[in-house]
Amino acid sequence: MGMIPHDKAKAIILWYYLPMLKSILQSALNIIIPPACHICGGAADNYICANCKQGINFILGAVCTICGLPFVSKESSPHMCGECIKKKPKFAMARSIAEYNGVLLEAIHKFKYNAKTSLAKPLGLLMAERLPLNNYNVIVPVPLHKRRLKERGFNQSLLLAREISKKHNTPIDYLNLKRIRFTEPQINLKGEERLKNVRGSFAVEDARVFKNKNILLVDDVYTTGATVMECSKVLKKSGAKDIFVLTLARVCRV
Ligand SMILES: [Zn+2]
Ligand SMILES: [Zn+2]
Repeated sequence: MGMIPHDKAKAIILWYYLPMLKSILQSALNIIIPPACHICGGAADNYICANCKQGINFILGAVCTICGLPFVSKESSPHMCGECIKKKPKFAMARSIAEYNGVLLEAIHKFKYNAKTSLAKPLGLLMAERLPLNNYNVIVPVPLHKRRLKERGFNQSLLLAREISKKHNTPIDYLNLKRIRFTEPQINLKGEERLKNVRGSFAVEDARVFKNKNILLVDDVYTTGATVMECSKVLKKSGAKDIFVLTLARVCRV
């Protein structure tokens, strides 16, 4: 049964007005059920309430020009940290939005381990709105091994990367960088062990895709940087130009 032109016109009109209809319905709904903060469930007008936002320790002071390590002294001229001087990472620059503690730590735990995927949008927007650069060609989320993906049901880095991609209208590639080796969680491992643990666990399927591209590599948490360093190594080997790392949170030891 083919669509008659009249129905087609109706469909087009509906399609045209759908976003407006949606927004009217949303505003009406907001009056009946006020939107809740995605982190604490309290009243909020935009995903995260003011209270929760205040509990996020955004990284705003001086950081290592390469790896983004926050310096204790907030007012220092741009320089590299000791680790980066000792061994320059394969990525050009890494930055994190906020410290991995307090409200943000809680939110990331809920997101990742309790599968609260509705947090992807507000958390991804925190990254998208504070993205410190725009000279990249493609967003690449740190991949999960398919066994881990099956366990968790989703890749948190991909969900975050999607929000950045949507907000900035930039392409995303979540298939070409692969996790080929299943590794134990990094959580109980220390610095050097972490690097060893992830060594050889990533591969690029088609090197032509990343050739001469600037890549925005996205992950949820930066701890020692072992994972993103290993990814960067593999991406560079496959011909990528520069790798910029953006993580939502960073473990900051005080
Ligand atoms: Zn809240
Ligand atoms: Zn550094």
